Amino acid sequence: MAVTFSKWKTPIKEQDAEVRKGNFGEVCLGYSLEEGQIEAGRCLQCKTKPCVAGCPVKIDIPAFIKCVKEGDMAGAAEVMDKYTNLPAVCGRVCPQESQCEGLCTVGKMKDFEPVAIGKLERLVADWKYAQENMQSKVYEGEKKGKVAVVGSGPSSLTVAGDLAKMGYEVKIFEALHAAGGVLIYGIPEFRLPKKIVKMEIEAMQKLGVDIECNVVVGKTITMQEIMEEYDACYIAVGAGAPHFQGVPGTTLNGVYSASEYLTRINLMHGYEFPKFDTPAKKAKKVVVIGGGNVAMDAARSAKRLGAEEVTVAYRRSLAELPARIEEYHHAVEEGIIFNWLTNPTEYVDDGSGQLKGVKCIKMELGEPDASGRRRPVPVEGSEFFIEADCAIEAIGQGSNKVLLSTFPEMKLNKWGYIEADEKTGATSVPGVFAGGDIVTGAATVILAMGAGKDAAVAIDKYITEKKAAK
Ligand code: FAD
Ligand code: SF4
Ligand code: SF4
Repeated sequence: MAVTFSKWKTPIKEQDAEVRKGNFGEVCLGYSLEEGQIEAGRCLQCKTKPCVAGCPVKIDIPAFIKCVKEGDMAGAAEVMDKYTNLPAVCGRVCPQESQCEGLCTVGKMKDFEPVAIGKLERLVADWKYAQENMQSKVYEGEKKGKVAVVGSGPSSLTVAGDLAKMGYEVKIFEALHAAGGVLIYGIPEFRLPKKIVKMEIEAMQKLGVDIECNVVVGKTITMQEIMEEYDACYIAVGAGAPHFQGVPGTTLNGVYSASEYLTRINLMHGYEFPKFDTPAKKAKKVVVIGGGNVAMDAARSAKRLGAEEVTVAYRRSLAELPARIEEYHHAVEEGIIFNWLTNPTEYVDDGSGQLKGVKCIKMELGEPDASGRRRPVPVEGSEFFIEADCAIEAIGQGSNKVLLSTFPEMKLNKWGYIEADEKTGATSVPGVFAGGDIVTGAATVILAMGAGKDAAVAIDKYITEKKAAK
């Protein structure tokens, strides 16, 4: 069969790297409707829908793409609405290359790029939010029960939206002063504008989801109180407690966890000091330790705060880099330096308690470890020094104990995460379900959403059966 469409994804507009590294505006500017139609024309409408198998919330991808191709944006939004509560978020930050696009038939053809499914999803979502009357269908019957949701990240927002659509009264309790979880306090504005997250949250509130911020479950209210008042509860408190390497000098001024650094910038206006009393250090030379999305976000944020030199030190090589490849390319374009096979051994004091640089050692890759990736091993005698007035550790996060330490009935695994059924999210406590990073460990937005979607079905079944048995 002769192929009549482009091998490559339809190019998408981006802010120029030289300009964007000095501002927090969104990097990717999205497709126009015409560009979206051209890209949608690359979809083969495969009968077996392999791409759908790669999407944890099972969006009917060929169906919405067909609508885009035909210019029927309302139809595309309607398809999307059946499967996801956060299309504008996923279209921007989902690791599409390893999810839906990784299974796209077009991408399997020699030298062809897959259909830009994520970018088309973003186009549809942005179109929907630009319309005045594109509200999801609100449930109007008698309420089927009451569900409490702890945390307001993507997993919680998904379970809450789906349960509201099914006819439940849903209340979200969030510890921070703003809803959205990592979408609000972790992922920077230049990748995911706050107004986009707020629009998706507002859409959910219009469905009837009630969100109460500044409530720390385990402190402000207990799980026992929640269980008495609600028919079921979903816990998705994320994995926000930062890990540290534990090398000497970690307590010096100028050494941050990426969580703290990004939260100050994203949620607490740290970059607007002294207008806001939560400064994020405006450093000249910054070293970021790690190789995931969090490390890329910290490095690119430091650049935008005015750092002259930003170096990412990663203990493995480019081939093992866990960050999305798109984010890595953007970081390179913005002038971020990458020091592969490098690990810090000490943060060095300038004599006044302030960081003056990072002692590092070169690594080489040995035998595979438990994760299947080759273990980095220090190369003896290869120590070197990087001058820096700020170091940011982005080496992973673990479970936050505030809720869990006050809820001993909840069974945890050996890493301190909640033990929950993979398909339903059911935990050791009847009526309490859990999902997202607090079950899997730090993962992705779409996996957290997938868990929320499955749990919504399980919670509906649980409450329906409980009420029928009375
Ligand atoms: P979270 O988003 O962590 O939300 C948990 C919420 O629970 C938080 O708001 C927290 O304040 C609240 N909470 C905690 N304890 C309590 C309590 N006791 N009471 C009430 N509320 C509580 N994934 C991607 O797919 N793509 C990306 O590009 C990407 N980039 C990332 C960049 C950064 C900087 C970070 C940190 C993560 C990134 N991730 C990315 C990972 C992704 O954001 C997470 O996997 C996802 O947000 C997990 O969702 P969640 O709902 O489980 O929890
Ligand atoms: Fe692909 Fe993510 Fe959209 Fe699913 S939600 S279709 S995995 S971009
Ligand atoms: Fe279209 Fe690719 Fe999905 Fe086939 S696999 S339906 S080409 S998006």
